[in-house]
Amino acid sequence: MPGTELFGAEERKEVQDVLDTGILFRYNFDAQRKGHWKAKEFEQALAKHHGVRFAHACSSGSTADAIALAACGIGVGDEVIVPPFTYVAVIEAVLLAGAVPVFAEIDETLCLSPEGIEKAITPKTKAVMLVHMCGSMARLEEIVALCQKHNLILIEDTAQALGGSYKGKPLGTFGKCGTFSFDFFKIITCGEGGALITNDEQIYEYAHQFSDHGHDHIGDNRGMEGHPIIGFNYRIGEINAAIGLAQFRKMPYMLERQRANKKALKESLAKFPEVTFRHIPDEAGDAATFMDFFLPDESTARAVVNALRKEGVEGVQYWYDNHFHYIKNWEHIRQMKAPAKLYVHTITPPQDYATLQLPQSDAIMSRLISIVVRITWTEEELAQLKAKVEKALSSVLALA
Ligand SMILES: *Cc1c(COP(=O)(O)O)cnc(C)c1O
Repeated sequence: MPGTELFGAEERKEVQDVLDTGILFRYNFDAQRKGHWKAKEFEQALAKHHGVRFAHACSSGSTADAIALAACGIGVGDEVIVPPFTYVAVIEAVLLAGAVPVFAEIDETLCLSPEGIEKAITPKTKAVMLVHMCGSMARLEEIVALCQKHNLILIEDTAQALGGSYKGKPLGTFGKCGTFSFDFFKIITCGEGGALITNDEQIYEYAHQFSDHGHDHIGDNRGMEGHPIIGFNYRIGEINAAIGLAQFRKMPYMLERQRANKKALKESLAKFPEVTFRHIPDEAGDAATFMDFFLPDESTARAVVNALRKEGVEGVQYWYDNHFHYIKNWEHIRQMKAPAKLYVHTITPPQDYATLQLPQSDAIMSRLISIVVRITWTEEELAQLKAKVEKALSSVLALA
């Protein structure tokens, strides 16, 4: 999963270009920077890969989500449908916009289900934040159609599925805009970084302006630029962008390795009839960052998690207990804990987060186990891993 596995000479070379000139800022200084525009180049590479007109790099995936919401004109009083299984940043971004997160059920894609979204729609619903979790996609065709039918803005948070696609079309290009994270744990990393992609010129204009105090980025005198809107500082720096640029070139190789390694690991799991697999609407487009599988019930899942950990299998995730990815353990969000008078106190959610029940999502999450798929496993490491996984599962489950 993490691009950090492949950190090397290519990243150092890109960073060195920036250090050689000392221009760490992404705008201006045309003469001094000796032709190095790392953020711009990174954006061009992202836009080209996704076949979109615009990409804008920013400081993180969290800020990319905040920028997306602002650029789409989503704010005070608007309801945004969000998944309960995501990274908590998505919920924070909606709250930061002054908007109201409304949780809907997921399905066995591990993403929002069209049925769940439809049930959560109210007259105040403005957008859907669709998160493609753990490297793979939601039921996109149905969700795109649903958003069109109800006139909802679709934002795809593709932080965990860079390089994935659905029927040949890259994830992140199905809605109004797509967002990405390049933090230390993501498919490619900038150290810290994020991006937004879109075909909509107005969204792009708002995005780069909003990320930089409203600067219009016209002309070569920063102090004299226009400021069409109010913004903030969500800029990426040249060093971070330089790392991302080198990492991005390695993405095809990463995907190829992840897909091959996941396939090999799946063979071991498939020997056990009680194990079932996550629904992937288009297998060919899976970024294959995680091997996700289900057990028949929570207690069997917990027993398997313990057995895997006891065998020393690395990267075993039981998201149902995780404090940052599933709503069950988001005490701070459930209680809306924040310093007095912080923006969150201005919203009145239609759901009582403290008592909110999502039985379908619970039923899915409590049976789910994920194993991180690494890029750099050797044949020998993979064989050892498979043996450990089979041994662990055999201690709990019957073989076919
Ligand atoms: C990681 C992540 C984010 C936030 O990205 P940062 O770069 O860490 O701020 C947002 N959404 C999802 C789905 C993520 O996994």
